[in-house]
Amino acid sequence: MRWRDKRRSSNIEDRRGRRGPRGRKRMGGGLMLLIILGLFLLMGKNPLNLLGLGGGSVPSPYESTTSSLPGSAQKDENAEFVSVILASTEDAWGTVFKRAGYQYKAPKLVLFNDTVSSACGMTSAATGPFYCPGDHKVYIDLGFFRELNRMGATGDFARAYVIAHEVGHHIQNLQGISMKIQELQRRVSKRQANRLSTLTELQADCYAGIWINNYEKQADILERGDIEEGIRAAASIGDDRMQRNAGQRINPDAFTHGSSRERAQWFKIGMKYGSLKKCDTFSTVR
Ligand SMILES: [Zn+2]
Repeated sequence: MRWRDKRRSSNIEDRRGRRGPRGRKRMGGGLMLLIILGLFLLMGKNPLNLLGLGGGSVPSPYESTTSSLPGSAQKDENAEFVSVILASTEDAWGTVFKRAGYQYKAPKLVLFNDTVSSACGMTSAATGPFYCPGDHKVYIDLGFFRELNRMGATGDFARAYVIAHEVGHHIQNLQGISMKIQELQRRVSKRQANRLSTLTELQADCYAGIWINNYEKQADILERGDIEEGIRAAASIGDDRMQRNAGQRINPDAFTHGSSRERAQWFKIGMKYGSLKKCDTFSTVR
């Protein structure tokens, strides 16, 4: 991808190289706790909820530490890259929404190390990148890019695809799809609920296709082989492939992300048509 000369996003929240609650200064931490306790007594409810930090987790007034760890240069190259890709999703979706008569509200993207606290609770990096509908943010530990290589999804477009997929979940959230599906899932069997999860994931793949379709027209970012990298990425993180890697027998009922073939197929549909209407993965269950 020709990404270096492209715009960076201002929606990156960098929480890397910062210590959590345990590492904070005694004075600052104590003062923060007192203020929170004071608010708690005054209002009779958890003030963290008002700050958007609720959800039962410990307050995390993160504090910076200067990082000079080996490998941080590589990390920052990855951070730069993520920032460009996030900006590209803002430009692409901004256009798609404008065309439909809406204004696009972009998500924030949080870079973290090891564990992160969000409106979705405490999450470990082992979960992989995720989108939290509760706070409209995408979360990623850049270590996941190494994992992606290990799964056979190599190249910069594979990494871009992962970000675009998570932003796809943000689009679903803006459309009210995420909420509708969650409601529906509470009323159906486990098997049907799994299928609905799969269809949600496939739609996010299709939305990743819409992103590149629209962005490429604006920015001319693709190089030879990029699309193949994206398709390979979609395929290599399919549930069947992951089950096989985990030494399990392939069981479509347990799929929540879709098979390799399905994922690659929906990414291609989004990329070909570049339109939301073509990404109705749920039409098969209506
Ligand atoms: Zn997903």
